Amino acid sequence: MTGDLARLLDGPAHGLAAAVSAREVRARDVAGAALLRAGRSRERHGAFLHVAGEDAIEAAAEVDRRVAAGEALPLAGVPIAVKDNVHVAGMPTTAGSRILGAFVPPEDATCVARLKAAGCVVVGKTSCDELGMGSTNETSAFGPVRNPWEPTRVPGGSSGGSAAAVAARAVPLAVGTDTGGSVRLPAAFCGLVGVRPTFGRVSRLGLVAFASSFDQAGPLARHARDAALALEAMSGADPRDATSLPGASPDLLSRLDDGVAGLRVGLLDDEEGVHPDAAAALSATARLLASRGASLVPLRLPRLALGVAAYYLIAAAEASSNLARFDGVRFGARAAGDGPAELVRATRAAGFGDEVKRRVLLGTFALSAGHREAWYERAQRVRTRIALDLGEAFRACDLLLSPTAPGPAFPIGEKSGDPLSLYLTDVFTVPASLAGLPAVAVPAGLSRERLPVGVQLAGPAGSEALLLAVARELEAARGPWTAPPDVIR
Ligand code: GLN
Repeated sequence: MTGDLARLLDGPAHGLAAAVSAREVRARDVAGAALLRAGRSRERHGAFLHVAGEDAIEAAAEVDRRVAAGEALPLAGVPIAVKDNVHVAGMPTTAGSRILGAFVPPEDATCVARLKAAGCVVVGKTSCDELGMGSTNETSAFGPVRNPWEPTRVPGGSSGGSAAAVAARAVPLAVGTDTGGSVRLPAAFCGLVGVRPTFGRVSRLGLVAFASSFDQAGPLARHARDAALALEAMSGADPRDATSLPGASPDLLSRLDDGVAGLRVGLLDDEEGVHPDAAAALSATARLLASRGASLVPLRLPRLALGVAAYYLIAAAEASSNLARFDGVRFGARAAGDGPAELVRATRAAGFGDEVKRRVLLGTFALSAGHREAWYERAQRVRTRIALDLGEAFRACDLLLSPTAPGPAFPIGEKSGDPLSLYLTDVFTVPASLAGLPAVAVPAGLSRERLPVGVQLAGPAGSEALLLAVARELEAARGPWTAPPDVIR
């Protein structure tokens, strides 16, 4: 790999796109180099489940032709990785599960089609927790993913492969999906910027549904500007997704360098259970924002703590309904069975892993006659209450600053036998998911063990531009970011 290509792949996506647009480098050469790195990242970290081949080179050559014809492409020739629960035409989708068998989608998810239209080249599909259910990538049917900061640790989940690939410099940008925190948590564990958009901002067409009232695709990047470029490209109304928000993509770039002067930053008083290094990163971030002209607003929102319980009930209920389609009859894997009922039973028994089965059981129970009022409906009331509380909070402040995760990445295997303690890892990310609000995970330094710790910025609906501007300010104040020890070269 020539030095120029290596430097471009190590740098920001916007720099790479500028070089391709100026025809200083060919997108096809960048794609070739990124494919090599993706292959290594599959071997070293298990980040990829599928690495593209000649198809990616051809797609990149097409980008070169479009650039030569004078087309302005905001992400010209940027190689990206896509979480394996999001469809890329012609590449297998497994969603980290055996239940889909050898399914190859005939068309791109809308968000992928839009990234391609902006000049991106998909170099592979990344590992994830099975069907998006998990916080560590350990529930994937195809093995765990290693964190490039410390390969014995989890990368976070469920978009763990996407985060590991970006952190290790295999690609500058990746697509993840966030139901209860699956973009933000891996971003925090791998030292990246990760965006969960306002619900409906990004079309859900072509995502393998987990919990339809929560699922959103969002970018993982090493730089705030790259996350803004990617989100802008992915966003916008989609006539084929009835829950997509009307209107064109929001402008996320023109206010990116606006700074934080005059901003009211809400800070929760409750830091119970937060690792001291994560708490220290949070206070350092708050002080930094204050020194740049923001004012800090102390807030009490005790009901946010109910978010985990409400989220895991509602998300499981929606999953149990969404996953009913995987029956071995219509598509995907099929196990042998004596008669139709036995075929469905055998297919689902063999095709789903333990965590997915746990959710299907929990969700079916929460929706069943006699229990629905006590569980599902009560959880829905908590959801509404949390949305109202956050709405109220956003009258007193412009955004809420919190940790993204209670602590840094933990060792692979440490919590896999204890689902409850894993679910609690999501305590800071689920409130925005329940309320349909945008939230951005931003790196906030390293722990004493030299593992990334992140902070989360959550705002009212449609506040992505503001949140990314704050992320950009934090990044500028922090200076150049150290690379993880285990980068791919
Ligand atoms: N960790 C959460 C869960 O397991 C969130 C997953 C996600 O956002 N896809 O449900």
